[in-house]
Amino acid sequence: MSTSRPAETITRFAPSPTGYLHLGHVRSALEGWRAARQARGRFLLRLEDIDQTRCRDDYAAAIVEDLAWLGLDWDGSIRRQSEHLANYQAALDRLEAEGLLYPCFCTRREIQAEIVRAGSAPQGKAGAVYPGTCRQLGAAERARRRAASPSYALRLDVAAALKRTGPLVWSEDGRRINADPAASGDVVLARKEVPTSYHLAVTVDDALQGITLVTRGADLFAATHIHRLLQELLGLPTPRYRHHPLLTDAQGRRLAKRDDALSVRAMRAAGMSAAEVLGAAQHPNRIPGESRDPHSRSTSS
Ligand SMILES: [Zn+2]
Repeated sequence: MSTSRPAETITRFAPSPTGYLHLGHVRSALEGWRAARQARGRFLLRLEDIDQTRCRDDYAAAIVEDLAWLGLDWDGSIRRQSEHLANYQAALDRLEAEGLLYPCFCTRREIQAEIVRAGSAPQGKAGAVYPGTCRQLGAAERARRRAASPSYALRLDVAAALKRTGPLVWSEDGRRINADPAASGDVVLARKEVPTSYHLAVTVDDALQGITLVTRGADLFAATHIHRLLQELLGLPTPRYRHHPLLTDAQGRRLAKRDDALSVRAMRAAGMSAAEVLGAAQHPNRIPGESRDPHSRSTSS
């Protein structure tokens, strides 16, 4: 007897508290909130606060307060990644036990030098791809350097992982996308001192929070290739995805996150209503920057 019914739509907004909520964040939050509310589903809030050198409690509090002011209400309690390191460590241990991780001792400078030396550097969507230098190290050498190094990265052996999973796809707003994780190279999943990277934490959290539809900016489309691979390796369900266009100004330039005038705080202080801020997040030609003196300051980043 079948009792299947359509899965509930569960979306999330997952900012990092490294600054105030910005108009670009509002756009992302609104996409997730609206998708959940239209489907009578749930909209969850997660704070991606692993990087304790950049994240601040006062920013976290401001984000929560601004969302409430905007009327973008969320369901349940807020998940803070810094409180769930054991979840990421467990996923990492599983990948390591399956022989899919290797330690990388390269500095940024060494990686750049190796790419130049190799000549035709493969370019990933996010820039130069790690050339795989440390993948060649033998087991004894790895163990010796792990014990001796104060810091190193743990990278995913993407070729070995893909051999395990075979070809992968995901649903992007109803379209079928072929995942190409190899384009990003052997990404970092953790460091010796930090048990997770963005890629690993997002993948684990989306599964633990039961997210069925991931809405986020188009700048994270490339990351989805990696997340799809991690889901398969960790036996996690695959949500649907919807990457929305990034906000741009009248000249087509991406809005600068560093532009303080486009923070919700500043727009509130300037007397804008919540409805006006939400409107500006959907219609780039209505962003408040349009009325500012173009010579007053640079907005590029
Ligand atoms: Zn390396």
